[in-house]
Amino acid sequence: MNVIFLGPPGAGKGTIGAKIKERFSLLHLSTGDMLRAEMQEHTELGAMAKGYIDEGKLVPDDVIIGMVEKKLKTAQGGILFDGFPRTVAQAEALDKIATIDQVINLATEVDVVVKRICSRRMCRKCGAVLNTAMLDGKDICPVCDGELYVRDDDNEETVRKRFAVYEEQTAPLIDYYEKKGVVTTLQADAPIDDITDQIASILAK
Ligand code: AMP
Repeated sequence: MNVIFLGPPGAGKGTIGAKIKERFSLLHLSTGDMLRAEMQEHTELGAMAKGYIDEGKLVPDDVIIGMVEKKLKTAQGGILFDGFPRTVAQAEALDKIATIDQVINLATEVDVVVKRICSRRMCRKCGAVLNTAMLDGKDICPVCDGELYVRDDDNEETVRKRFAVYEEQTAPLIDYYEKKGVVTTLQADAPIDDITDQIASILAK
């Protein structure tokens, strides 16, 4: 089973994806995580991507498609695509290499996203995505004691830009996949565990 999580930044794709991949034994393929790994390793691709990411823009399609194609060559079993595809060109490229069974569209508003992302913290060690409300004023990861950090692109100005980029370049994918009859839209403002359960029952069908 191959699934796409669609939705603006901060809709909860990564957090919910981490829970769903466990329940359904899927490979969690997040192009954002792959790009951040390239940046951390100071690769040429990472250096090139950083400029786009810090400005809230999309990394060019050919770079992203090449990166995903390479990953899929060795991937086995079902895949949960998180943050990919983000353009119609990426969706068309994906159609040539994988069949998509379900698209979960996580819908939310820009102000909800700004609030959520500006209080987001990431763990450098285990990759957990946390919220300051869960941290009780502490600045170490409650999962592994790792160091927490704020992503460079998690500031209000960039988040508003990323949301606008989403509406312009990624939202057309809702229509693209609706034509294939595989989209389920959920409100992403409900508690994470409730949304996760809703998605699990959709995928179990
Ligand atoms: P994310 O972690 O999914 O929010 O992605 C962080 C940033 O990485 C995005 O704002 C884009 O700059 C870049 N990025 C991630 N996935 C893609 C993609 N599929 N296409 C283009 N850029 C991407």
